Amino acid sequence: MKPDEIKKISALFIQALGARKVKTDRDILDKYSRDETSDLAGFPDILVRAESVKDVSETLKICNKHNVPVTPRGSGTGVTGGAVPVNGGVVLSLELLDRIIEIDKKNMVAVVEPGVITSDIQNRALSEGLMYPPDPASLDSCSIGGNVAENAGGPKAVKYGITMDYVTGLEFVLPDGEVIKSGGKILKNSTGYNLIGIILGSEGTLAVITKIYLKLVPAPKVTKDILIPFDSLEEAIDTVCLILNKKIVPAAIEFMEEDAIKLVAKHINSKVQYPGAGAHLLIQIDGMSENSVFDDLEMISEVIKADNEKIIIAESASHRKRLWETRKSIRESICAESPVFLAEDTVVPISEIPEFLIGLKNYLKLKKLRSVMFGHAGDGNVHIDILKDDMNYDEWKKMLPEIKREIYKRAILLGGTITGEHGIGCLRKDYLNMAISMDGIELSKRIKAAFDPKMILNPGKIF
Ligand SMILES: Cc1cc2nc3c(=O)[nH]c(=O)nc-3n(C[C@H](O)[C@H](O)[C@H](O)COP(=O)(O)OP(=O)(O)OC[C@H]3O[C@@H](n4cnc5c(N)ncnc54)[C@H](O)[C@@H]3O)c2cc1C
Repeated sequence: MKPDEIKKISALFIQALGARKVKTDRDILDKYSRDETSDLAGFPDILVRAESVKDVSETLKICNKHNVPVTPRGSGTGVTGGAVPVNGGVVLSLELLDRIIEIDKKNMVAVVEPGVITSDIQNRALSEGLMYPPDPASLDSCSIGGNVAENAGGPKAVKYGITMDYVTGLEFVLPDGEVIKSGGKILKNSTGYNLIGIILGSEGTLAVITKIYLKLVPAPKVTKDILIPFDSLEEAIDTVCLILNKKIVPAAIEFMEEDAIKLVAKHINSKVQYPGAGAHLLIQIDGMSENSVFDDLEMISEVIKADNEKIIIAESASHRKRLWETRKSIRESICAESPVFLAEDTVVPISEIPEFLIGLKNYLKLKKLRSVMFGHAGDGNVHIDILKDDMNYDEWKKMLPEIKREIYKRAILLGGTITGEHGIGCLRKDYLNMAISMDGIELSKRIKAAFDPKMILNPGKIF
């Protein structure tokens, strides 16, 4: 935006919302120019921190009238640049809309504002004996609004599903400022088009979410985690299939291949168990009684193709936390090793994980690239992080499109798709046509135009 335009639009915001919520200072805007995507930034011209649905509506009305781009933002933990204002304009932060309005025990529903941190909802629900299961690894810092906008998943997807399985109602604001309500504290709803389903995963391109109704479930009384080392990734994934075929449904089954284990071992040293293993499986079993959890553990130990004596079982909360530390430290270790890296989160049928990853690892080695692979073995969503290391920056940028295309091509050939939970954002939009037909993309564009005819909401994302 030009300086006189910034002045004019900020004056309109100040008049409508009050000066406190509107910022144009460069040092404050700087924080809103990035999310957690490696090597990506875009500077906003104005920041609006909404404190109510009215603030959101007024902000959007002004932007719509004056054709100013608006990028909604939760906590900025996204990894595909969704909250980065790549076209400048306004960042509309929802971080101060952070009330847990109600935990309704009778109906087992939480009513929350979008800026609430996901783990705060989990903790409040747990204090009432209830559980909000979706658990992105970023749950201590991401917002629930961001989770809905990205349709976030997490390790517990195997047993409990993802964000979309828990949203029973939404309040959202259209780009022209109109406030729409859909659903509520109800578990069934076949009243017209599923507007909630359209907003879920729309990455802030259709509407700004201002209130969320979330289904809660009874919290399991017993949880145990086990770590199993394997000689190879194939053995680990074969075991996952055997466990699922035995009709055991663990809460989570996570895997790490040897380069991921070694990298974390290098950065968090002695805390890593079995640093020389070819792969780790980290399995969480939960249930309502010791007996049911014990039965599942026993069945798992029967099918495991690894040395049973090496299995580590963690029962106490602190031991379980230690067991998960390796898995949760991967991103930190990658950033320490190579601050610039490519993070992909493709999804393939579970049984295809070894063929996909081993083939890809060999391909990347031929290109002289180091990779780290890990993820959700129980649902086929695999994270492939490729390190720039000391490669020349221009050479790296030139190489990325070919690498990405190769990863997506291989995933799609195996019956998968290009992203399981991180979304398209601005990183994958050039590859959307590999996964969705042109007719599908045209239909999506018509949906976008129906919600946002002036194309002001989060431009430069998805399409
Ligand atoms: C260490 C780490 C681990 C992660 N692990 C996982 C994981 O296990 N699973 C997973 O799915 N993701 C994971 N992520 C990615 C990220 O945390 C999720 O995408 C999360 O849902 C983003 O929430 P946020 O509040 O930070 O959103 P932001 O980054 O602020 O925004 C993300 C997108 O949502 C839009 N948006 C935000 N709030 C609203 C709103 N109220 N209305 C409309 N649009 C909105 C933004 O415009 C943007 O397009 C991880 C990220 C990191 C850094």
